[in-house]
Amino acid sequence: MKLNLKDINERYEMFTAFSDVPDDSKFIFSAKDNLTSKDFETTAGSKILKGYFPPFDATPIKKMREAGGALCGKTNMDEFGFGTFSTNSAFGIPKNPFDLNRSCGGSSGGSACAAAVLDDHVSLGVSTGGSIVCPASFCGVYGLAPSYGRVSRYGLIDYGNSLDKVGLLSFKASDLRKYLPVISGKDVHDPTSCVQPELELGKKKMKAVAIPEEAVKGEGISKDVMASFESSLESLKSMSIDIEYVSMPTLKYSIPAYYVIATSEASTNLARYCGMRYGQQEGDLTLKFDDYFTSFRSQYFGDEAKRRILLGTFTRMVGYADRYYNKALQVREAIINDYKKVFERFDAVVTPTMPFVSPRFDEISKMSALDSYKADFLTVPPNITGMPHLSVPCGYSQEGMPIGLMFTSDHWNEDVLIDMAERWDSSFKVRHAEVKA
Ligand code: GLN
Repeated sequence: MKLNLKDINERYEMFTAFSDVPDDSKFIFSAKDNLTSKDFETTAGSKILKGYFPPFDATPIKKMREAGGALCGKTNMDEFGFGTFSTNSAFGIPKNPFDLNRSCGGSSGGSACAAAVLDDHVSLGVSTGGSIVCPASFCGVYGLAPSYGRVSRYGLIDYGNSLDKVGLLSFKASDLRKYLPVISGKDVHDPTSCVQPELELGKKKMKAVAIPEEAVKGEGISKDVMASFESSLESLKSMSIDIEYVSMPTLKYSIPAYYVIATSEASTNLARYCGMRYGQQEGDLTLKFDDYFTSFRSQYFGDEAKRRILLGTFTRMVGYADRYYNKALQVREAIINDYKKVFERFDAVVTPTMPFVSPRFDEISKMSALDSYKADFLTVPPNITGMPHLSVPCGYSQEGMPIGLMFTSDHWNEDVLIDMAERWDSSFKVRHAEVKA
């Protein structure tokens, strides 16, 4: 298949690197640019990695290639995954295919855009706190973040090691069933991927879902999103799915706990970028080591990365660790227990994916860091617990922007999510982006 990726990319800026693929490729895929790839520069949206050509493929990319896939491009993203709108990339900002003045979501924004715009395309995304389902919902495609540990993280440029998950974005629900088994499985290079129940696709059905009152009853969800959520519940009922409201009181602590854990882990991970090992090496080598590192990092890390280094270093400091980091770990346990209780009676928890449709860039520029952190309040809970979650397109706002519906199931129960995605796909008419490639 011939794709004019150059023209498409000029319009949407969804790739940081791309190339033609052989005409006879079995299938074509793209991958978020924090997954290392042999023949493409890999920068994770950061200037500090400019010029980094990894000597190996990340395991999920390797597995897709072994299955006959051709990698056509690396997708644009927030620097190291830090963001919700892909506006924190050092290499341009991906544009929403439904409205070029709006965000694709983040941080896997380029992947969602590629899934929405390219025919027959599947993209590998990565989620730490919602980065697969958020952009999937903003771009009107399916997004699946599997259980933590289902897919190897070998070759992934870490954001938060205890949170990161590699997953899939596609216009077609059937791609989830097709490609999840391809990228899953144990990998000796990633000990957290080694112990896992086998996928049993097609064996489990979604029969009953719970809606956490704390997530949907407060303020903060826009009218359009709420209306489409309510009509989606009607569709679920017509599929004979039982729906009940439940209480999950710990959910309100998920945002503070997540941002403590995520920034703590991120700040240690970023320590390896010092201008001596990977990518960019243009610093003043006459300086002393510490001064060299400081000047190099000041120059090449973006503002959000710097903010997270400060936050994460603080929360791990002697004297503060018990108050912040260790406390956040306890909160994470409490949230897991809340979910587990719900899963004794229900197959999934359902909420809207994002509280609003994709904002315009001028609106995003007026948001504070805290405003954008708060926008993750629906996507962070499944992520902090490592539970698999799925976003399906479920409606469109008055302006025609896509709205997403999110299902979270118990650890290792991706099967019920895939069952839902396929059933949903057969009844809901997913729109193609108005802005044609
Ligand atoms: N928006 C969240 C953050 O900034 C999640 C991003 C992600 O999953 N990489 O941390």
